[in-house]
Amino acid sequence: MAPSAQTSLRSGALVVLFLVAHACACATPSRANEISKSDLWTRVETLFPPRDQDDSLVAATSGGEDVEEFQEELALPSGLRGQMEDSLRELRDKEAPEGMYGLSLSDVEIATALSFKHLVSPSTFEAGKEARDALMRWQAWIAKSHPSSRCREGAWGVLSFVDEVWPEALEDSDLKPSFYLKLAKNLTKLKQCGDEVKVKKGSFSFEFCKEYTCGLWETFHAMSVSASADMPGSSMMAALRGFIDKFFSCSVCRSHFLEVLADERTRAVRSTKDFALWLWEAHNVVNMRLGEEEEERGTGVPGRPKHAFPHPKKCDRCYLSEDPLKVSKGGVHSFLKSRYGLGGAESTAGGVTKSEL
Ligand SMILES: Cc1cc2nc3c(=O)[nH]c(=O)nc-3n(C[C@H](O)[C@H](O)[C@H](O)COP(=O)(O)OP(=O)(O)OC[C@H]3O[C@@H](n4cnc5c(N)ncnc54)[C@H](O)[C@@H]3O)c2cc1C
Repeated sequence: MAPSAQTSLRSGALVVLFLVAHACACATPSRANEISKSDLWTRVETLFPPRDQDDSLVAATSGGEDVEEFQEELALPSGLRGQMEDSLRELRDKEAPEGMYGLSLSDVEIATALSFKHLVSPSTFEAGKEARDALMRWQAWIAKSHPSSRCREGAWGVLSFVDEVWPEALEDSDLKPSFYLKLAKNLTKLKQCGDEVKVKKGSFSFEFCKEYTCGLWETFHAMSVSASADMPGSSMMAALRGFIDKFFSCSVCRSHFLEVLADERTRAVRSTKDFALWLWEAHNVVNMRLGEEEEERGTGVPGRPKHAFPHPKKCDRCYLSEDPLKVSKGGVHSFLKSRYGLGGAESTAGGVTKSEL
């Protein structure tokens, strides 16, 4: 490149840097709503193009059941199939622990709000283009698919704020650490799920979950079966990958799960339904590994055994046969939709909508 072109590029970058530093210093979260949602929507659409004729959209909204689907076997990797077979054998004469089968929208909201609190913590806020992309994808997934309207609304606020003060065109080299610090501080003023969902230390309590990661799993599952999510499963996968890689506060979980995400099976995920089934499978991979660890170390939590999920007594159509294990694709998908399909449910301050299977 000619030196004069380089100089003008550099001075252009300096101007942009000045404008952005200025915008970040001045922009407060309250300005976020001034950005037109439709403008923002158009930009989010470039991250998440609407899905094509996607079989799962029809399946998720029609309410009809495809009998052939219930007979179709879901192919599992042989290692996981063997582990689940062993686990199901052990479950045969046991009842399903009830607490594990209740679902609370409030738990999902708290976990989602906590995920944001961790993400924007100035001490750990992730700098750089990749983090911006991960943040936008995660928030766009929430904006489009979260079962709680206040979390969806909060995600729109975050998207518009970030879009305004941290433009995509900026290169990493344009931005200084002080920019990110100020940005993180301003982001802490936003509430991912509104004012009612309080996540200050000691001031929140889960209803069914015992910990953050449980609520996070439930958030992922609920967003994977959302009938209103007009986005392909491959985009949900990209949003999940970015969240785990950049923002998951449990570092042990992150490094283990990045291995699961590196498996080539993730590449076969196209539709929302593919994603929901892959997520169920991936959660079982984690359950099986933790089950073994807990047995070896005697660290299991009473009432929350790590077993093949779901317990056959909670879903008689999930398994075509248990030994040898044959999983019904339609059975598991239908179970996930009824367990996690919280669309339309709303939680109220101090009260929750919950379903107990
Ligand atoms: C991505 C991720 C990776 C993790 N990796 C680790 C790790 O490496 N090491 C570690 O110690 N902890 C890890 N955890 C935490 C761990 O998975 C549990 O969240 C934690 O042990 C609490 O378990 P729980 O009994 O509350 O049930 P959870 O496993 O948290 O599950 C929450 C609820 O989801 C339902 N559920 C269970 N299995 C499935 C399934 N297959 N499909 C759909 N729903 C299901 C059940 O109703 C259950 O109550 C990870 C968490 C996440 C989100």
